[in-house]
Amino acid sequence: MANLGTIPNLVGRGGLILADRLCHASLTDGCRLSGADFRVFRHQDSAHVESLLKRRQTNRPTLIVTDGLFSMDGDLAPLPELVSLAEQYEATLYVDDAHGTGIMGPTGRGTIEHFGLEREIPFHMGTLGKALGSSGAYVVGPRDMIEYLVNTSRPFIFTTASPPGTAAAASAALAVVQREPERRTRLWANRQRLFDGLQRLGFRMTQTVSPILPILIGDAAKALAFAEQLLTHGVYAPAIRPPTVPGETSRIRVTVTSEHTPDQIDEALHAFHLTGQATGLL
Ligand SMILES: *Cc1c(COP(=O)(O)O)cnc(C)c1O
Repeated sequence: MANLGTIPNLVGRGGLILADRLCHASLTDGCRLSGADFRVFRHQDSAHVESLLKRRQTNRPTLIVTDGLFSMDGDLAPLPELVSLAEQYEATLYVDDAHGTGIMGPTGRGTIEHFGLEREIPFHMGTLGKALGSSGAYVVGPRDMIEYLVNTSRPFIFTTASPPGTAAAASAALAVVQREPERRTRLWANRQRLFDGLQRLGFRMTQTVSPILPILIGDAAKALAFAEQLLTHGVYAPAIRPPTVPGETSRIRVTVTSEHTPDQIDEALHAFHLTGQATGLL
């Protein structure tokens, strides 16, 4: 809803949007709703972005749209390159950091902090339902821009506000992000333990750099069978299939948290080992 409410107020008919091919469905919907010309660039490919910018008619309002941390692959947008291109070609960069919020960057402020680009990227959006464990979303930026959005964003204006309990939960979670950095330390240690274990077992993974650990299987039916077997060993990791991911890239998407124990992770690895052998994947 935040993407639907924001993107059409940044660019409209006559404008141009360039979006990463793997960006989240809600971004795609926001782009379509805007009425701007909508082009997709190859995943993480800033050279492709530049070639599209070069071919653009001049003086066309342009928005470059990307996830910060991609939800289905666990990899990052090339934000340093995209910032330079946005500057060079007078485009606006729009980052959805739903999965980066709370975990990326030295203080958990997200993928933009991870790249040290908080000055260069003056606004972005994220959600409250991933690391923050609540529900809803936010847009942060300069005051005049936020005031503009508060007064123009129809999905924001014409719906009931977030319930107080939900808002309070998100607010309390933000305080936890700030005051309990040890949770992030544990998260990244857990992530490394599970990632190393899965690699050692021989699974094929995406180029992930985050706690989202996708095991590539390919065929949708095989991915479903794998998830079912895995559940019999006590691990619930649903298969992700088209249309959530492109055809023949079905996967098991594992996400580790700060609260898993090393023993639990080792137990999960054992389940993956058994399942990998039983399904012929290993
Ligand atoms: C999950 C997600 C959303 C949607 O967030 P909800 O809180 O589930 O509405 C939007 N964008 C990205 C990149 C996401 O991963």
